Amino acid sequence: MNILVLNCGSSSVKFQLIETDLPIIEKNADKCLASGNIERVIGQALITLQSEGQPKIRKAEPIKEHINAIDYILRWLISPESKINNINSLADIHAVGHRVVHGGEKFTMSALITDEVIEQIEDSIELAPLHNPANLKGIMAARELLGPGVPQVAVFDTSFHSTMPETSYLYAIPYQLYRRHRIRRYGFHGTSHRYLAYRYRQLMGLKREQVNIVTLHLGNGCSACAVKKGESLDTSMGFTPLEGLVMGTRGGDMDPSIIEFIRNKEGMSVREIDTMFNKQSGLLGISGLTNDMRELLAEEKEKDDRRAKLAIDIFCNRAKKYIGAYLAEMGGADTIVFSGGIGENSPLIRSRICKGLEWMGLSINKERNNSIQHGKEGEISTSDSKLKAFVIPTNEELLIARDTVRVVKNAPRRW
Ligand code: ADP
Repeated sequence: MNILVLNCGSSSVKFQLIETDLPIIEKNADKCLASGNIERVIGQALITLQSEGQPKIRKAEPIKEHINAIDYILRWLISPESKINNINSLADIHAVGHRVVHGGEKFTMSALITDEVIEQIEDSIELAPLHNPANLKGIMAARELLGPGVPQVAVFDTSFHSTMPETSYLYAIPYQLYRRHRIRRYGFHGTSHRYLAYRYRQLMGLKREQVNIVTLHLGNGCSACAVKKGESLDTSMGFTPLEGLVMGTRGGDMDPSIIEFIRNKEGMSVREIDTMFNKQSGLLGISGLTNDMRELLAEEKEKDDRRAKLAIDIFCNRAKKYIGAYLAEMGGADTIVFSGGIGENSPLIRSRICKGLEWMGLSINKERNNSIQHGKEGEISTSDSKLKAFVIPTNEELLIARDTVRVVKNAPRRW
């Protein structure tokens, strides 16, 4: 089957066209036929398109709505310009898999999109007011453009974490707030953590229940997950993606009393403070320079910038704290898995996070660590390290495509 994977943000649409099916999944022979994104879907949009074996195409064109962006992608996919074999008409696109950020407590697995499922996703808008409406726009647009005969599947960022016990997901605030308003930890990046757990299991030849790892997704957004017996036991993002690790522009953990204090001192509204915590904090907030880790590392190295170094040190220290906390909570684990743009590409950040963890049996092999970046995967710890460390490039799109096939064909779909 040819599966169109869509990830719609508030002003962007990312896509991949993936050829996969049940026997292909079995052989791990899925194929990405094309990928790209359309950014700034509000006016003059920036378009990046690439099909297998072809150079990247970059264009700028006026695109105002998600439906126009998806229409543009579909027309390009079936056009001779894209040079994709066997994709000649919309009938060659067999199903659509959507990344949906919030599935609330309802969705513990990926779901075939029906009117009822759409209503339930709408029901979670108050929990993800920035993300779910954009995801819904993508669903409605794909329905309109491809027609009701093409099945669509929702794959939720939250569902991998639905296995968390109450001890992980409840906040220690009055219990009725959970009952009345569903205030609890949901966790995000679930598709990424689930992919990492699946891929680690495959690399090591393990059964799902033998997977005991701490996964670190370190990109622009960052989160950690304690995966015990193959399931999410705890994760660092919470009611929203703000909690937990230091991220590009999000500060992660902090004392909520700071909000009232800032409100009084700076005369800001709660909404403005929330925006500041999400958009102007984290690496950007501490360094005052950038949210981009690569740029911060360059500032630190070339200009010995104190605040760039501080931002990186706080970032690494927070990640280290979560590793320790999760190892304690899990009663030990076998491996720490690094992923995301930073985790996959920066040996220096990986070694700074792992520094000082030798006492718990983690020993990094410098050569292995330095050699694994830019899409490579493998072990970065020494052969005799008691606690191992791996780098695994994440692939959320692949998991979305595979789930789409499994849901459409009614096959088992936990991994
Ligand atoms: P997103 O969460 O938006 O998908 P990515 O996973 O692509 O983001 O991660 C983006 C982050 O990865 C940025 O902070 C970027 O600087 C960082 N990054 C990418 N390559 C490197 C590198 N070689 N060294 C350090 N950081 C890197």
